[in-house]
Amino acid sequence: MAKDYYEILGVSRDASTDDIKKAYRKLALKYHPDRNPDNKEAEAKFKDAASAYEVLSKPDKRKKYDQFGADGVNGAGGFGGQGDMNMDDIFANFGDIFDNIFGGGGFGGGGRQQSRPTGPTPQRGHDRQISLSITLKESYEGCNKEVGYYHLFSCDTCTGSGMKKGSTANTCEQCHGSGQQQFQQGFFMYSRSCDLCQGEGYIISNPCATCAGQSRKQKFDKFNVKIRKGISSGTTLRIPDKGDAGLFGGPAGSLLITISVKQDNKFQRVEDDLVTRVTLTYPQLVLGGQLEIENIDGKKEIIKVSKGTPVGNKIVVPGKGFERIRTRGSGNLVVITDCHIPKKPSKEAKDALKKYAEIIGNDTDEKKGFFKMFF
Ligand SMILES: [Zn+2]
Ligand SMILES: [Zn+2]
Repeated sequence: MAKDYYEILGVSRDASTDDIKKAYRKLALKYHPDRNPDNKEAEAKFKDAASAYEVLSKPDKRKKYDQFGADGVNGAGGFGGQGDMNMDDIFANFGDIFDNIFGGGGFGGGGRQQSRPTGPTPQRGHDRQISLSITLKESYEGCNKEVGYYHLFSCDTCTGSGMKKGSTANTCEQCHGSGQQQFQQGFFMYSRSCDLCQGEGYIISNPCATCAGQSRKQKFDKFNVKIRKGISSGTTLRIPDKGDAGLFGGPAGSLLITISVKQDNKFQRVEDDLVTRVTLTYPQLVLGGQLEIENIDGKKEIIKVSKGTPVGNKIVVPGKGFERIRTRGSGNLVVITDCHIPKKPSKEAKDALKKYAEIIGNDTDEKKGFFKMFF
């Protein structure tokens, strides 16, 4: 009846502790009851592997086993009969084998209770996110904006403890503080959140009436936030401590403000440049000259239109764009030229245009209604 522990784990007699652990983990996962429901053979193998691991993973037991065999280790400190560990013991002793693989809670086996201090654990409050809409002008000049939003504040009455003055938190009698209840259904062990303490592990005998024991209350908050020059749409500002207050005195979260910049009728942002259009007459484009335009901040800018400026030309005013946030300096003001075409020119204007057309050799016979292409 005695099985060889090395054989069970499939390792050589000189295997390292690490190899033994790896071999056990592999078998434990393969034959785990959650993966092999109602499979007696898997159950037996799972238990055998655990028994073998229990001995071979401990240098002193392994030494005895090597010398005296199973009888040498199944006396004091063993688990009774060989291959007869019960499931609770397996999970209690080797539960950490599964944790690495299944992340955290493992299979929630019996007997694995975490001890935590009685009473609420302080937790950091959540971040709050709001969006703030500003105009393109405000993003160019910078601005001060009031933001208003609801978030959780630490309860004033109980100063964030969640308890009435003089009241205490007691360990939950049902789950003994673990917050989890174990129960068995057939062969399987399950755990669920304790229904007496709602998984908290403690019970507050006298909760604060103001916050119902929650330690926080939702309230409206508003304050002014400074938006710096040059901020672009989609930028998120983080304001520490303006999010939800922490639970039971934990640190507060942050307020995240996402900036959205409204479209402007006349101006547009392209990277750090401020782009606008100016409509000139044909003679202005041909003859050139100086022109005064109003920037988005209302300041006057003189721009120089060179002789023979084409439509769609970019006139650049250096440094008059958006202030750069990550590097020094500013983008440019870029003025794109357009040409004004009158729909109903006066008679004098028409005559002058015809005269001009003649000079440059255009055929402008109005009766025929079309002209020869000249390019
Ligand atoms: Zn309170
Ligand atoms: Zn409980």
